[in-house]
Amino acid sequence: MSNILGFPRIGKNRELKKALENFWSGKCNHDELESIARSLREKHWQIQKDLEYVCVNDFSLYDNVLDLAYALNAKPARFKELDGLEGYFAMARGHKNGIACEITKWFNTNYHYVVPELSSDDNYKANVESIKKQYNEAKSLGYKPKISLIGIFTFFGLSKIIKGEKQEIFSKLKSSYLDLIDEIAKLDSEVVVEFSEPIFAQGLNGLDSLKCGYDRNAIVCIYNEITKKGIKAIVSTFFEHSNEFTEILLNTNIYGIGLDFIYGEKNKESLQAIAKSNKILHVGIIDGRNIWVANIESKLEFLDSIAKIVPKERIILSTSCSLLHIPFSKDGEEKIDSEILSWLSFAAEKIKELTILEAAFKGNIDSNVKEFLEKNKQINANRAKSSRTNNKTIRDRVAAYKLIQRELEFSDRIAIQKEDFKLPILPTTTIGSFPQTNEIRALRQQLKKGEITESQYKEGIKEYIRDCVKFQEEIGIDVLVHGEPERNDMVEYFGEQLNGFVFSTNAWVQSYGSRCVKPPIIYGDVSRTKAMTLEWITYAQSLTKKLLKGMLTGPVTILNWSFARDDLPRDEVCKQIALAIADEIDDLQNAGIKIIQVDEAAFKEGYPLRSENIKKYEQWALESFKISTAIAKPSTQIHTHMCYSEFNDIIKTIEALDADVISIETARSGNEILKVFEKVGYTNEVGPGIYDIHSPRIPSIEDIENQIKALLEVLPKEQLWINPDCGLKTRKWEEVKPSLKNITKAVENIRESLK
Ligand code: GLN
Ligand code: ZN
Repeated sequence: MSNILGFPRIGKNRELKKALENFWSGKCNHDELESIARSLREKHWQIQKDLEYVCVNDFSLYDNVLDLAYALNAKPARFKELDGLEGYFAMARGHKNGIACEITKWFNTNYHYVVPELSSDDNYKANVESIKKQYNEAKSLGYKPKISLIGIFTFFGLSKIIKGEKQEIFSKLKSSYLDLIDEIAKLDSEVVVEFSEPIFAQGLNGLDSLKCGYDRNAIVCIYNEITKKGIKAIVSTFFEHSNEFTEILLNTNIYGIGLDFIYGEKNKESLQAIAKSNKILHVGIIDGRNIWVANIESKLEFLDSIAKIVPKERIILSTSCSLLHIPFSKDGEEKIDSEILSWLSFAAEKIKELTILEAAFKGNIDSNVKEFLEKNKQINANRAKSSRTNNKTIRDRVAAYKLIQRELEFSDRIAIQKEDFKLPILPTTTIGSFPQTNEIRALRQQLKKGEITESQYKEGIKEYIRDCVKFQEEIGIDVLVHGEPERNDMVEYFGEQLNGFVFSTNAWVQSYGSRCVKPPIIYGDVSRTKAMTLEWITYAQSLTKKLLKGMLTGPVTILNWSFARDDLPRDEVCKQIALAIADEIDDLQNAGIKIIQVDEAAFKEGYPLRSENIKKYEQWALESFKISTAIAKPSTQIHTHMCYSEFNDIIKTIEALDADVISIETARSGNEILKVFEKVGYTNEVGPGIYDIHSPRIPSIEDIENQIKALLEVLPKEQLWINPDCGLKTRKWEEVKPSLKNITKAVENIRESLK
């Protein structure tokens, strides 16, 4: 028997995305949307037909956390009168009655869920209709359904409490959650429900985040009550081990427990205890977060080692987590060459692997299975020995590399830079990108399709750069940028030029709602063949006497936003990327570029879920950044940019990056975040985002002056830069022009007043 925790819902060709966008723009009605959703579910179940169960309620029109909030009537007050899809999408996307609920990252993935807002004024009420509909659909098609449901502890732990006491809200929520289970129990004689409790994988810290004194008793009581309703309850955790909670769950009457043995190998420590219980064990053994073909042989060995402890009859094979985090299938993938393609396995292929693994594990080896196993062995052998995954020159370079520090300490470097640059106080700059216009997008597309020549393309990009530089000069920005018109995406742009990366045509993964991303795939050793940004940046510099800031994406961000190979440790992959970026920095500085920004927008995303693993990550992430930047001469000023606002926990690491200047997202919190920098005695320079670029609103001169004054209360003027809080590529020129003009005017006024 084998099992998955969920299937990608967006559709093979992103049918759901298209249907949703048509629905939102009024081009299709509710029935049409529903019929597309139904046909997607049907197709996705068809792919799961050889599994023990097909997953039900893993499908969602937007997000599963939102689905559960909606099924419990946990709606924010501003949307109380709205119901049906109107209320549902109001929470997800906003409505004239009020702004949308926040979205945030689902644990350490790039999937974002809608954050429920809970208040003591809420009236929770269970509504099983949507689950019932999907359950009956699956049954009528002849499948055996298993319902996926987010566990109450995870749901509550991820929610935001708007008003009232946590305890009180939890107990109200719990009773309607139990009502929902009651309704679910009525669907069939013995309904199988898989409760996802990834919050348990954060260890006791995860439970702390519930902050309502939940102890083992609460967990035992609730899961016992759930079981009493007459369902088969399986509680699953993923993304890490959850040993502390396995121990608790084994004291309940639940039917089974699901553990991730890919990202939580330590779950092995619980095997003895599981063996002593009578519970079924779902062994998460096929990687649900990565895209590489499984090594069936070594997985079998691993399973055999588990089966030495837990009786085979009680073992069910499973994916490590929902397949939501990987693309649909390799079918029709044309851009990737056949060798690399053979190394890949997306959701549909993973299901096949699971059923083969199951057959082999149980000893049911017919000719099909045998053939698959042989082929799998070959593929893995080929991948391991291919020169594309083992480049001796790159490996030797990384092995021989000894981390050097920058030549001088910050105080000496900045003295040299200040002397050279002669910038005024409160220097102004931007984060890199300027508006991506339709013309610029079309230009890049035309080049890709071969509709224009390379030189026509270059002329178009240069024209944009000229306009961009001219505008910045006109309004008096101090440190200019070229505007990034040649980049579709800050990671893809570099990945496309680096060795070791491939790009798919259709390997989309849902990021949130209808938004999907197509992460680059790092299959081999990474290196740079030639300069990647030099031409554009030196061109821009040639147009102005002012300082022009070169723009690069940092190694940690490139890694964190890609599907990384699983046959080399992440820190090694990161070091390879770091050296490639170091080469680029060197080229830029040798060509006369004096300021270089190394963006680390996803630095924080790579933080591990469990606090005990943080140190190790920080160490290699930091080292990678330093490998890239250590090559900078003292006179080259290194900037970095991070677009989030939570620096409390990581400020020491930020400090250790030793960037000469860091620009951060602070606009929405006044000067609060900057205080963290002050508190630790941060000496390097800081550019706190002066206005929020995520909103179309144009900040007035007065707004900006006030914001600068607030910042000056925290840090001395010598340490501050003035800039927007992120890149401007998603904004329109009509918004960017007045906003930046107001910045330069406000800064002029402040400088005057400081004289
Ligand atoms: N330099 C990038 C830009 O301006 C940074 C983007 C980001 O922070 N996400 O677009
Ligand atoms: Zn940013």
